[in-house]
Amino acid sequence: MNQMRLSATPSAIPIVKDGRPLSTSSAPAFMSSLETSSTLDNESLPAKTKVVICGGGVVGASVAYHLTQLGWGPHTVLLDQGRCGGGTTWHLSGLVGAFKPSLSQVKLAQYSIQLYKDMEAQGLDTGWKQCGSLCVARTKDRLTVFKRMKAQAVSWNIDCELVTPLEALDLCPLIAVSDLQGGLWIPGDGVADPYKICSALISQVKLAGVRVYENCAVHQVHNKDCKVTGVDTSRGSIECNFFVNCAGFWARQVGKMSEPFVKVPLHAVEHYYLHTKPIAGLDPMTPDCSSSRLLPEDWDHFHVLLEQMLLRVPVLGSATLDQLCNGPEAFSPDCKWIVGESPEVLNAIQNYFVAAGMKTVGISAAGGVGKATADLIVNGCSPYDLHELDISRFLGLHNNRKFLRDRVREVPGMHYGLIYPFHEFETGRNIRMSPIYPKLRAAGAVFGQVMGYERPSWFDPKFIEVSDTRLDNGYHPYRIAYTKTFGQPPWFDYVKDEYSACREAIGLSDYSSFTKIDILSKGHEVVDCLQYLCSNDVDIPLGGIIHTGMQNKLGGYENDCSLVRIAENQ
Ligand SMILES: Cc1cc2nc3c(=O)[nH]c(=O)nc-3n(C[C@H](O)[C@H](O)[C@H](O)COP(=O)(O)OP(=O)(O)OC[C@H]3O[C@@H](n4cnc5c(N)ncnc54)[C@H](O)[C@@H]3O)c2cc1C
Repeated sequence: MNQMRLSATPSAIPIVKDGRPLSTSSAPAFMSSLETSSTLDNESLPAKTKVVICGGGVVGASVAYHLTQLGWGPHTVLLDQGRCGGGTTWHLSGLVGAFKPSLSQVKLAQYSIQLYKDMEAQGLDTGWKQCGSLCVARTKDRLTVFKRMKAQAVSWNIDCELVTPLEALDLCPLIAVSDLQGGLWIPGDGVADPYKICSALISQVKLAGVRVYENCAVHQVHNKDCKVTGVDTSRGSIECNFFVNCAGFWARQVGKMSEPFVKVPLHAVEHYYLHTKPIAGLDPMTPDCSSSRLLPEDWDHFHVLLEQMLLRVPVLGSATLDQLCNGPEAFSPDCKWIVGESPEVLNAIQNYFVAAGMKTVGISAAGGVGKATADLIVNGCSPYDLHELDISRFLGLHNNRKFLRDRVREVPGMHYGLIYPFHEFETGRNIRMSPIYPKLRAAGAVFGQVMGYERPSWFDPKFIEVSDTRLDNGYHPYRIAYTKTFGQPPWFDYVKDEYSACREAIGLSDYSSFTKIDILSKGHEVVDCLQYLCSNDVDIPLGGIIHTGMQNKLGGYENDCSLVRIAENQ
């Protein structure tokens, strides 16, 4: 897919060197403290506050802003190791789109867009321009993606139109359309200036009582009796009840600044966009990226993309290039934002929140993610469904450095690649396996991965394993499930036969990958507790098994599980 932007698909080169992140922490020389009003550069830190936010990028600024909306401004301190807005927020090309891979993400992005519009209406400069966005399809499958997006847009409340190649040309006369199948026009999308948004939010939070300290790095986050108690910084210590890690691609490092570590599985990758000198008759819209602190230009890497861009936008051939802007951006291993309260429950650290891993769409995310995070801190819940973004979805293995380096090479491509149903990652495989994995593999299993666990997605009866073959890494060859079509999947008949076998004869399932928890009590407490948590009547006879949902205290759905009664109170 080509998008009408001069920024290109991210390359997935880790920018960690010698085990340390490439430092981009100091503010650009020309960048002064946020113009709107001075931050507290020379003042000493307060001894005590309720909330400390680490990171004054667009996400941290938005969390602070939404805390002020809930009346917590005077109880909030925001710290940045450099200048607010001087992290990845500084590199942003400014595209703001509502279409995201899931309804939860769409709702957060829609909230962000509305927030930037409202700020403009209040006279705050965000650089917001609603110019619309045009995605174009060169292949039939890509057009199918757009048709599916169009169908989904009805229930997701996104205004968009499928367009013919000629209609696409009408909308954007700069592009070549002879090889196109069609396109998708999203009129509500736009561009904004991230630095202006960040500045505007910071100016508002300061007015509402938030104390903002720049050049103040968090070094340690303390906890006692399972709760956050304070932070040590380069300028002294602050006692606090809540800590919010909004440290962008540094968030994983900041996660290590507490005992126990808070897992924030993300990795930085290079992300590019190309800046030209002004093109006659064209509104530049995206912000000027001139900066001495970009990562080095990597033309070899960018060349493949540039070739395609020149085909799609021929006028670029005569444009004067200014700079290839290359900045670091944080990706999680599943290409979703990381939001919510840290789940480190053994030796727990409660009241430690994370909002990071913005994966090249931080400006679309920031408004909604900031609101949801503030809601969680103040009210303990959010009106948004954050389930798929919840930081508790990760295990220790996801935070493993080798796993992240391997996986995050593959993740950024998901933004622009053709993602077919039942997508499986190729990297970071064979981490957790059932004891009978070799038998399953030899029986023709083609594997999918759930929480790092390899599980057969289907069995290929024609498969014959050659037992003495090994891959370079010592593993037996294994097969990863694939679909690669929007039509009838290649595995359809295999699964049909398995289904029929289970229905008509016998099926055998390996449940090794399911978490098992033994719950018991001396008296009847275990039954009473489960009756309270579960939606089904789980007071079943001994030896019985029952499927049920489990709810949280607001009645929301937390878990789908099976209970087996192996004793009166167990
Ligand atoms: C080239 C490029 C183009 C992009 N284009 C777009 C786009 O068009 N649209 C879009 O939506 N997104 C885009 N993005 C992504 C977007 O820039 C990011 O997702 C967003 O800026 C992330 O904001 P953040 O607040 O999470 O991180 P940051 O802006 O990096 O903020 C984190 C802050 O934490 C501070 N910090 C770190 N450690 C500490 C510590 N120990 N103590 C105190 N402070 C600390 C840092 O100094 C930094 O200011 C682009 C990114 C790049 C690189």
